[in-house]
Amino acid sequence: MEKIIKAEKIKKAFRTEELETWALNGVDFEVSKGEFVAIMGPSGCGKSTLLNILGLLDNPSEGCYWLNGTDVASFTEEHRTDLRKGVIGFVFQSFNLIDDLNVYENIELPLLYMGIPKKERKERVEAAMQRMDITHRSKHFPQQLSGGQQQRVAIARAVVASPEIILADEPTGNLDSKNGIEVMELLRRLNSEGTTIVMVTHSQRDASYADRIVNLFDGEVTVETKNI
Ligand code: ADP
Ligand code: MG
Repeated sequence: MEKIIKAEKIKKAFRTEELETWALNGVDFEVSKGEFVAIMGPSGCGKSTLLNILGLLDNPSEGCYWLNGTDVASFTEEHRTDLRKGVIGFVFQSFNLIDDLNVYENIELPLLYMGIPKKERKERVEAAMQRMDITHRSKHFPQQLSGGQQQRVAIARAVVASPEIILADEPTGNLDSKNGIEVMELLRRLNSEGTTIVMVTHSQRDASYADRIVNLFDGEVTVETKNI
């Protein structure tokens, strides 16, 4: 099956003047188109570092990364930004919504960056709000919403540009159990509709929604298991 993500021997060092931390120590990681993969492991094991590299938000210190078959090392910064906009949608634990923009405007933002005309923006934002069941809150600001609603807005913002891949970093980490399950059901639905999903989690419950679980410990892949 076609690999949408293929990373080989990825290493990442964070350096300050007196300190060097190796967050990743040679990670091999592949994802097939349409898969739902969970990266699991304890706090500090390198999950976010790996996800940020996969999402082109950061560069590895060593190793190779092919996105959709293209070696991203050869890309300029500008080319990476373009690629990210078209291919990848990010969802974070802390929602990362903009406080001064209402729900509609938050979801519209990626389309504005992409230069999509107003009429099409409206259609796409409305469709995304409907999919995430947040239409009735379109004029509300993030502080006026529950955590679960804020994460649904963040997912709507991630999917509005129809990315091939959703990368989610502890998407239920700030939610209670009921809202967490709702968010996981939404991610599973997006996956069943064709979106490839890579999710970072330390929750066994969340990982059970994935097709495959990759365990990370101290910057290395330890075990891989398949959910049947
Ligand atoms: P996780 O998401 O699994 O909790 P991270 O990927 O955030 O782990 O961090 C892995 C390791 O790298 C940790 O030791 C962390 O302190 C370190 N680290 C992460 N980001 C930075 C950074 N920007 N500067 C220095 N060290 C960092
Ligand atoms: Mg993290």
